[in-house]
Order: sequence, then C-alpha cells, then structure tokens
Amino acid sequence: MVNCEEILELLSDLVEHEMDIDFEEDITEHLSECPRCVVILSTFRKTVSLVNTIEMKRVPVIVHRHLWQVIHIEERKRRK
Ligand SMILES: [Zn+2]
Repeated sequence: MVNCEEILELLSDLVEHEMDIDFEEDITEHLSECPRCVVILSTFRKTVSLVNTIEMKRVPVIVHRHLWQVIHIEERKRRK
C-alpha cells in the first residue's frame, strides 16, 4: 500500500514514463480511498500536458511546489 507522500514522489515517473502494472494497482487502490491524491494526480497531469505543450522535457521543480500548494488549499477547504 502506498501513501500520499509516495504518490507525490512518484508522480513525475507516472506521468513521464509508462507505469508498471503492479505499481499502477497500488496507486489505483490508494486513489480509490484518497480524494486528495485524485486531485493531485489530475492537477499534475494537466500541468504536465501544459509543460509538454511548451516543449519542456523535464517536469520542473515548480510543478512539485505547485502540487504542494494544491494540497494545502484542499486541506484548508476541508477544514471550513
Ligand atoms: Zn493520498
């Protein structure tokens, strides 16, 4: 079972490379129980496709920073 931190660490690999089947099952399982990571993954995919549009091969550090911001925003929403 993977946790949120692992999902976040693995996001660039997930999106940039073909993911391993077993690994994908772990992630799917986690996503089914963690709406926060669903938001993160979809945000990440959108960001990466945007990054690809401007022809950058590597996902920049700023994307990870952006994702952490999304997490904090989601956390804040939940507490209201
Ligand atoms: Zn999670």
